[in-house]
Amino acid sequence: MKVFVVGSVVVACSVKVTRLPLAGESLSGSTFLAEPGGKGFNLALAVSRLGVGVDGIFSVGKDLFSSVISSTFAQLGFSSEMLVCREGSTGAGVAFVDPAGENCLAVCLGANLALTADDIRSFAPRLLRSNLVAATFETPDAPIDEAFALARARGITTLLNPSPFRPIAPSILANTSILVVNAVEAAALGISIPGLSMPGVSDEALQPTPAIDRLLADGVDLLIVTLGHRGAVAFRSHGPPLHQPAFEVAAVDTVGAGDAFAAGLIAGLLAGKPLNEALRSAAACGALTTLQFGAFKSFPTELSLTAFVGQNTSGQ
Ligand code: ADP
Repeated sequence: MKVFVVGSVVVACSVKVTRLPLAGESLSGSTFLAEPGGKGFNLALAVSRLGVGVDGIFSVGKDLFSSVISSTFAQLGFSSEMLVCREGSTGAGVAFVDPAGENCLAVCLGANLALTADDIRSFAPRLLRSNLVAATFETPDAPIDEAFALARARGITTLLNPSPFRPIAPSILANTSILVVNAVEAAALGISIPGLSMPGVSDEALQPTPAIDRLLADGVDLLIVTLGHRGAVAFRSHGPPLHQPAFEVAAVDTVGAGDAFAAGLIAGLLAGKPLNEALRSAAACGALTTLQFGAFKSFPTELSLTAFVGQNTSGQ
């Protein structure tokens, strides 16, 4: 089984400071960390940790950071053929983090934004050898549109995580099999899930609202709304809604939880699990990722996921 990620990749830099700097101020930081990230890359990494094959297209610039990305890909066993070099700087982000974990940051997607529909067409033979094509909104519309149209024309499942949010083009929506959104993105799409609260969920709470019905009518087979520690809700074009409670964990940092959830869902569905089991794996991946700081090291392996799901009853 193989996933093709229409990717984004950035070098995420963070500096620990005693307090966030003021305009014009220069502070000394105590720790500097640079690690590969980006929503597309995180998804590829999280899926591969779960034992699923990964291919894709990721765009870097002609600068110092492009070699950081290529050596990371080599270390992870990702093919160098997944990388293309385009105009602009390699995607990069800079963050300041204070002792309370409060941060301020800016990300420049740079060369990620230079990916085109032509790029996708030149990767078509590889894309069409995959079982699922995934994309996030750190990639422009044109390559997603092309990739999803190619995939759906061959009956290949597509998954979109529209983050960071922008309105979803109708042509992309029409070719999206699985749409995974968090609470912020759901609100931007006009989706509300009234009455959803822990520990119990009433049936009315899971009734699709008109906004949900519209998305399902526009071509989406499966809409999943992730709600942090309140779990996730799945709405289907065929079949009743499903609620997946979150696993009870002592979360320290929720960065990457959404990417891990999507990866767990993909791995579960590609392994042929029924939706309720794939959702449980996805929720476990999300929960496990909250147990460590950052995202790069915190995505679970197939082994740690199996052990966690076997030992925990809280996500039933
Ligand atoms: P995002 O990171 O995209 O904002 P969420 O915060 O909704 O996404 O998290 C995705 C999933 O990860 C949730 O549906 C849930 O299953 C799991 N998760 C997130 N935060 C927690 C938490 N504090 N405790 C347990 N599970 C969590």
